[in-house]
Amino acid sequence: MKIIVLIKQVPDMEKVRFDREKGRIDRSSAGTEINPFDLNALEAALQIKEKLNASITALTMGPPQAEEALREAIARGADEGILLTDMKFGGSDVKATSCILSSAIKKMEYDLIIAGIQTVDGDTGQVGPEIAGYLGIPHISNVEVIEKYNEDSIEAVSAVWESRYLKRGNYPVLITVTKDVNSPRLPSFKNKMKARKAEIVKWSYEDISEFIEKEKIGAKGSPTKVKKIEMPPESTREGRLYSQCDEKAVMDILSVLKERKILKEA
Ligand SMILES: Cc1cc2nc3c(=O)[nH]c(=O)nc-3n(C[C@H](O)[C@H](O)[C@H](O)COP(=O)(O)OP(=O)(O)OC[C@H]3O[C@@H](n4cnc5c(N)ncnc54)[C@H](O)[C@@H]3O)c2cc1C
Repeated sequence: MKIIVLIKQVPDMEKVRFDREKGRIDRSSAGTEINPFDLNALEAALQIKEKLNASITALTMGPPQAEEALREAIARGADEGILLTDMKFGGSDVKATSCILSSAIKKMEYDLIIAGIQTVDGDTGQVGPEIAGYLGIPHISNVEVIEKYNEDSIEAVSAVWESRYLKRGNYPVLITVTKDVNSPRLPSFKNKMKARKAEIVKWSYEDISEFIEKEKIGAKGSPTKVKKIEMPPESTREGRLYSQCDEKAVMDILSVLKERKILKEA
């Protein structure tokens, strides 16, 4: 059985700063990491591999330094990593990103594709289902429990708003997982050594060109145009300090709460 895990390298969102003047993330202000939900996707694949005879390929599209994310995926147990990297892919929006990733997948053998539900930077949650659309295969999104699996199919609980749906997909199928599906394991020492020496396969536009339409990728192939990005102004605190709890203080607080419609008039 062949499993592909989709991995995106993202900035560490707890540390990253925003360039307010240019209206974009200052990527040099923080390190990078694997998108946290993709660690759940990898863990799901590893648990399947422990029970079935499976191989796991981690696949990412990104700049050359995204190779680090693939090495980390190998350190955590993936068998190999493929990096899609080419200047022609730059400026791709979600649709073009999904087109590029699915074109690479068409070149690969696979039964199951596992993606995170969303990323912590782009956060659209569209890449997984869009890839399934491009490949013409079914998908099960928002998976919070993987109930059963065998060499032919997988059964999973999909969380949609307040409802839970038990769905079964025959391979080939794509699933997107939430953080509730498992707790990702840490890299092992043995796998860290393996990851250091691993050869990361790199595919450029030329390597997948037979499956891709040139006009559907990059900035030109992206229907989304970002006209302007604005950061909300930093809010300043409007605290008032009362040194003693007297009637005036209580009345003051009550009138503010009523003014802001937090408390209704009796
Ligand atoms: C007009 C426009 C231009 C853009 N230009 C650039 C640019 O020049 N450079 C740039 O870095 N970004 C660019 N982006 C952002 C880029 O489109 C998104 O990073 C990408 O589409 C993924 O979307 P997302 O982060 O919302 O993924 P989501 O849909 O939230 O991700 C869901 C899951 O899909 C998988 N996944 C997502 N992205 C990847 C990936 N790259 N490789 C493997 N798996 C993945 C992961 O498993 C992830 O958990 C641009 C966006 C727009 C709208």
